[in-house]
Amino acid sequence: ASLAPDVAALVERRKKSFGAGSVLFYDEPLKIVRAEGAYLHASDGRAYLDFYNNVPTVGHCHPKVVEAVRRQVGEFNIHSRYLFDVAHDYAEKLLATFPASLSNLVLTCTGSESNDLALRLAKRMSGGTGFVVTKTAYHGNTATVTEVSPSSYKHGEPPSHVRTVPPPDPAVFGNNVAQGFADAVAAAITGMEADGIKFAGLLVDTIFSSDGVYADPPGFLKAAIEVTHAAGGLFIADEVQPGFGRTGTGMWGFARHGIEPDIVTMGKPMGNGYPIAGVVTRPEILSAFCGDFGYFNTFAASPLATAAALAVLEAIEEDGLIANAAHVGRHLMARLKRLQAKAPITAVRGAGLYLGVEFGTEDGPAPAIAKGLINGLRYRGILIGAAGQYGNVLKIRPPLCITVAHADMLADAMEELLG
Ligand code: PMP
Repeated sequence: ASLAPDVAALVERRKKSFGAGSVLFYDEPLKIVRAEGAYLHASDGRAYLDFYNNVPTVGHCHPKVVEAVRRQVGEFNIHSRYLFDVAHDYAEKLLATFPASLSNLVLTCTGSESNDLALRLAKRMSGGTGFVVTKTAYHGNTATVTEVSPSSYKHGEPPSHVRTVPPPDPAVFGNNVAQGFADAVAAAITGMEADGIKFAGLLVDTIFSSDGVYADPPGFLKAAIEVTHAAGGLFIADEVQPGFGRTGTGMWGFARHGIEPDIVTMGKPMGNGYPIAGVVTRPEILSAFCGDFGYFNTFAASPLATAAALAVLEAIEEDGLIANAAHVGRHLMARLKRLQAKAPITAVRGAGLYLGVEFGTEDGPAPAIAKGLINGLRYRGILIGAAGQYGNVLKIRPPLCITVAHADMLADAMEELLG
């Protein structure tokens, strides 16, 4: 496609400044000029319905968050070694959504920093260094967290203290996903210990987003957590993707599994775009770590970050977004399952407004269909992406304020493009 002059110029400037680090969506990239609710507006004059972005979880430019940030930035903003109310209004409101034992919060700025700290906490508490993660996991970008993010490797393998298990997929484990996944975790632990590496913990994204979205049956994680604890390891629930109500059944993805993590990490939607992330854990786990190391994070837990995050929690409540995620998600799931009967779709999975549509033919996974659909939807004014080991799973995770009418727009457009 030939690019509009303003877009072409910006692509050139970007290549010059960002070099090989520049990653852009679409052959014809979008230049965004403003946003509201479930829509991004581009320089081509069109409004694009956003089924991709889970960071603006309460809606792009939600007035409540905009106002909270505007007010706080004009009052004062400082690091967290002074007292101010808003950080505690936030911490208490957030911690109230967790099981009582998970009563300490460390704020950070990114999901990566949260997982980096979680790994350090788990190592300190277990005395081990070995971690088990899923095969196509992504947990962040620090040196240590990249080691537990196999999806980041363009070639080569994670180091030997990191062992991988397949995603909890019935296509791998048959009908008893819980037992199959737990057995795979047990085998990974046995394998690392045979190589002289002491087990520290199991780290999973509780909606398995980069693996291709696996949510069912609820409770399947329980057996793997039992294996983890029996082997002396900690369970770290990465809630960066499913957290803050997206799965439609409560605030946290782990709760669908009836389990209590030792450590929970969160980020992305937490500040609706203002960078704030965090780690929640039991006091004894944090105390053990703080006995050995200081931890300070300049920009985390600031009045500005916590004001944004508090407004997000309030908006989730006031706008009824968890119920909306359940309602709209159920509708969209039903429409996608109907579409499955007449399209090369091998599975429709997910919970609430985190859905995955897996494409395949008799020849196996079909990433080309997912890719074609992503581009086709862009020209119909809908933004979406893909995930999974083969890139053949359409990943649906819109702002939680979308409506049934929006869901129908996506399902109608998919039906036309696949037809
Ligand atoms: N965990 C998961 C499951 C993620 O998807 C991501 C980001 N894609 C991260 C951690 C890292 O978060 P951040 O980019 O904020 O460092």
